[in-house]
Formats: sequence, structure tokens, C-alpha cells
Amino acid sequence: MKINFLTLFPEMFEGVTNSSIWKQARDKGAVDYTVTDFRAYSDNKHNKVDDYPYGGGAGMVLRAQPIVDAVEDVRGGGDARVVMLCPQGTPFSQQKAGELAKEEALILVCGHYEGYDERIRSVVTDEISIGDYVLTGGELPAMIIADSVIRLLPGVLGNESSAQEESFTDGLLEHPHYTRPADFRGMDVPEVLLSGNHAHIEEWRRKESLRRTWERRPDLLEARELDDDEREWLRKFENE
Ligand code: SAM
Repeated sequence: MKINFLTLFPEMFEGVTNSSIWKQARDKGAVDYTVTDFRAYSDNKHNKVDDYPYGGGAGMVLRAQPIVDAVEDVRGGGDARVVMLCPQGTPFSQQKAGELAKEEALILVCGHYEGYDERIRSVVTDEISIGDYVLTGGELPAMIIADSVIRLLPGVLGNESSAQEESFTDGLLEHPHYTRPADFRGMDVPEVLLSGNHAHIEEWRRKESLRRTWERRPDLLEARELDDDEREWLRKFENE
């Protein structure tokens, strides 16, 4: 996959693209990153990328020309998905990450100031928000989206199954984890996890995953079809 970031602050991507799983994924050839400063595309003699809003009001608006030209150049006639980071976009989710991970190329457009000239949307395929709050720019949201996509690419995580078992993948939150020691300040690891009985461990994990979702995110259960075991466990939780 090729991930292109269009931004006014390329330096923000240096640490992230050269660290941890991002670096390993690039070294393995699973992904490549380019960071493009769309100011370089401005046709303004002072390289301006923003201007006052028509109709007046606070803040500056990103001009259409530099971003549209940058998107068309980076896309190069291909069919890369063009994702505009925007608090007004579709809320981001694990499902959306999985959908984007199937693409060969992504272009992530990072906004700034008051927002975008509306006509920039003519070259955009998706608008994504990372939550109901407003940040200064689209760089951090773009990194969040890229991070969640990169770890789903084949071969990137050491253990292929680890991404499949995580929160949201199956519509549930993940079960609790424990590591050594078995007794930490009088808090014991559940017996079943020490038993070596894989069937019992698997059942405990499914049940605790359901319990955690029921306690913390009951909204997720409304969107999920439960099997017989899960319905029975839910009845027990409610009576505990
Ligand atoms: N005036 C805009 C509004 O009210 O919708 C907010 C603009 S915000 C200050 C500047 C930029 O930060 C946005 O264009 C977008 O790229 C990015 N941004 C801010 N919050 C975001 C969010 N929740 N999700 C995705 N991008 C966000």
C-alpha cells in the first residue's frame, strides 16, 4: 500500500513514519509513505494556501487550487481513495479501517485553519472524522487512521491472529489480559488462565469479552447478533 499525506506540516510525520510498526511495515515492503507539502502547489506568488471567507467571519479558509492540484498530481491518473480529514465526516471505526486496508493507495488530506473551500470536495472520495471534537489540524487524525490501517496489512503484525482478536473486530471489546506474576499485591490471575485447558480458556475469554462489552459499551451489543451461549451469559450478568 502507498499512503500519501498532504499537509502544511510535513515535519510532524518524521517521528511517526520512522518508528515502531510504521518503520517495520515499510522495511518489510508492506507500505510506503510520502508526505507532500501542498503549499508547494500554490499558484500564488507568495505561496499562500489560505484566504478570507466570502461573506466574512472568523478565520481563514484553505483555498481549493493548491489542494486540488496536489491531489491530482499525487493521484497521477490512478484511483487512490482520497480521504479528507474533517470533523464533519463519517465517524471513524475499525470497520472503516478494514475497508481502507484493502486499497492499494490512500491520499490523506490534512486540513487547517477554519476549514476547506467547499470545492475541494470535488476530488475527495471519503470524509472522515476521528470523533466529536475539534483539533487544530488534520495531521493527528491522518496518523490515527494510517496507524489503524497499517497494522491490518498482511504480514505487518508478527502474529496474524492478533489483529483479528482485538476490540471491535468481532463487535465486542477484548477480554482482560494478565501476565506474570500470578499474584500481584494479592490480586490473583483467574485460575482458568493457569489451567492449561485451552477450551476452558477460550470460553472464559469469550465470556469476559462479552461482560466487558456489556459493562462498558452496551451500545455495541445492540448491533450484534448473539449466539445461545452469549444470551445465557448475558442473563447471568444481569442477575449477578
Ligand atoms: N471549522 C471547522 C468545523 O467547525 O468543522 C473545524 C476546522 S479544524 C480547526 C481544522 C482542521 O483540523 C480540519 O479541517 C480537519 O482537517 C482537522 N480536524 C479537526 N478536528 C477533526 C476531527 N475530529 N476529525 C478529523 N479531522 C479533524
